[in-house]
Amino acid sequence: MDSGPVPTRPTGGSAAVASSSSSLIFLGTGCSGALPDARCLIQPSEPPCTVCSTALSLPPDRNPNYRCNTSLLVDYCHDDGAHRYILIDVGKTFREQVLRWFVHHEVPSIDSVILTHEHADAVLGLDDLWVALPSCQRNGSAKVPVFLTQFTMDSVAARFPNLVEQKLQGGDDFARPAQLHWTIIEGDVDKPFVASELQFWPLPVMHGEDYVCLGFLFGRKARVAYLSDVSRILPRTEHAISKSGTATGQGQLDLLILETNRLHGAI
Ligand SMILES: [Zn+2]
Ligand SMILES: [Zn+2]
Repeated sequence: MDSGPVPTRPTGGSAAVASSSSSLIFLGTGCSGALPDARCLIQPSEPPCTVCSTALSLPPDRNPNYRCNTSLLVDYCHDDGAHRYILIDVGKTFREQVLRWFVHHEVPSIDSVILTHEHADAVLGLDDLWVALPSCQRNGSAKVPVFLTQFTMDSVAARFPNLVEQKLQGGDDFARPAQLHWTIIEGDVDKPFVASELQFWPLPVMHGEDYVCLGFLFGRKARVAYLSDVSRILPRTEHAISKSGTATGQGQLDLLILETNRLHGAI
């Protein structure tokens, strides 16, 4: 059995069947505002935007013009056949992504979370994360790890003090915030970390010229690089994912997932 994540499972069509292999589920591939752009529908231009005007004409699972915030779910099948679900980014549209894809792919819960950076389309769904946590977690017996840089931690703590301080709200046990274990990582290709027993190497990339976002290299047998929100790939990251990169000692990538920014008319 291959325990390395491979992109074999479709993101639409018939209901998923139980799988004995790992897979990648693209929960979202859209921009920060998601598609369709609501303005194109409530304040249509003349002629109407061709992308957004078609976004409501087909069901979302068969419509390339209906896209939520960028997010990846790594369905990691362990050697014993147990599946662990590692979520990369929890954006503004997280709840909709759970309803659409977790149900479709029979994903019961999330086992760990990794954040690429602290922009709204990567973290603002954290408040809804509790709906996708393991049921045993709701009584506080286990905490789900969240991996993030100190910079992202500081921003999340300012925006979600209830999630970081983990206090009951007004003594109401039903209002207990998600039980999360915040784990600081470094944006360094030489400082890997382990989430749900799968190793990840941080891949720093420029997201605009004054902001660094993290991508990640992972996979035991299939070597996958996931780079979201990229305006420029840094030399150390380029080397890490190159054939001669030594981060995993496995040579050439099997899959490069790349989402680029559009800045000042240049992609
Ligand atoms: Zn539009
Ligand atoms: Zn961003």
